Amino acid sequence: MTPSAAEFVSLLPEGSFVDDEGQLVVGGCRLVDLADQYGTPVLVVDEASVRSQVRRFDASMREGWANSRVVFASKAFPCTAMYEVMAQEGVGVDVAGGGELVMALAGGVSPSKIIVHGNAKTTEELSMALEAQVGTIVIDNFDDIDRLEQLARREQGVLIRVLPRVSADTHEAIATGQVGSKFGLDGEQALEAIARVRASEHLRLDGLHAHIGSQILDTGPFALEVAALAEYGDFDVYDLGGGLGVRYTYHQDPPSPEEWCAAVTSAARRHLPSSARLIVEPGRSMVARSGFTLYRVTTVKRGSSTFVAVDGGMADNLDVSLYGERFEASVVDRVGGGELVTLVGRHCESGDTLIRGVAMRSPRVGDVVVVAATGAYTYTMQNNYNGALRPPLVFVGGGRSQLRVRRETYTDFFRRDVPDEGG
Ligand SMILES: *Cc1c(COP(=O)(O)O)cnc(C)c1O
Repeated sequence: MTPSAAEFVSLLPEGSFVDDEGQLVVGGCRLVDLADQYGTPVLVVDEASVRSQVRRFDASMREGWANSRVVFASKAFPCTAMYEVMAQEGVGVDVAGGGELVMALAGGVSPSKIIVHGNAKTTEELSMALEAQVGTIVIDNFDDIDRLEQLARREQGVLIRVLPRVSADTHEAIATGQVGSKFGLDGEQALEAIARVRASEHLRLDGLHAHIGSQILDTGPFALEVAALAEYGDFDVYDLGGGLGVRYTYHQDPPSPEEWCAAVTSAARRHLPSSARLIVEPGRSMVARSGFTLYRVTTVKRGSSTFVAVDGGMADNLDVSLYGERFEASVVDRVGGGELVTLVGRHCESGDTLIRGVAMRSPRVGDVVVVAATGAYTYTMQNNYNGALRPPLVFVGGGRSQLRVRRETYTDFFRRDVPDEGG
């Protein structure tokens, strides 16, 4: 059975539809028009859909636990435009390292709402964080404590990242809470770090942090995580990280933000002190469904199987080759039904397959193809493989579209070159 038009539309941002001429419309914009105006490949984000997702997390956390905060895990989509949206929505932002920190500040995020992560923070990055007066630095190892004690001149709030020993059912590369993970401190070591920070002159221990992984499709592991954190004793703050999975393909049925928040806050009621502040850090689930990628078909090769090749691929969507993520796609003006084809990219590797066995109706050269739910982790992992130009980012909403990051140009390739001084 090939999916119906309605089934495909259900993977796009809420409010998307097929108009009476058979054209896909998102944020009030016809996808074919966006491809014509901005060229392909292009990454498009429905801004209202991001904002509504942020508000859903915020409202449902507060409903389950009054003293709670939502923090966007910005590595899922680190660009000025997205930081601006988060700043306007008033939620916090977590950053991993100096690069995301400067972008968050440039996007207008209040330093007090920034949480700095990283398992290998450099002295320079910690200095930048202290200089910016970020609200929270998450300690991952004893060297973080050494460095911060050296550098801090005034009080700095910190959390200690502990290893909750929870194995979630997800791809190995994005599981982070299990025994053997490189992230956080385990058992005795966590207790030792807690004691050291408590004795420190400038570091103020606010509480604990954990993050068990990404693209997790049920709530069970998160309740185990809360119980594991409780074993370290009573603190003012418990930051539970992110990890809620999203629906990339038809059969996936992740918990909604409301269900997830209800599950973590009810676990908190069972295990954590009622006066504590809860923080959650959704990344993928905040943005994935709001984004999609448009490509143009460059060639169709019919043989034992049909290869539909497009003008992008693993340079603009690494999720497939890194984690084997399954996406879905459609021609933008012939949605639903069709034949099963292999959607491939333009890069010089067989691994550059976007989707195997995806239904497409009469794909032809020049068609615009949309891959749904590319809003998380694709922008940040864009690369120049095979000299690919990193695609533009366009925000859509209310029938209007706006370019927020321009396409890279060939000139950009030479920007960092330094002439050979030899002679
Ligand atoms: C990646 C990450 C997140 C977000 O994970 P998602 O699966 O995108 O929700 C949250 N917190 C930390 C510390 C992370 O490393």
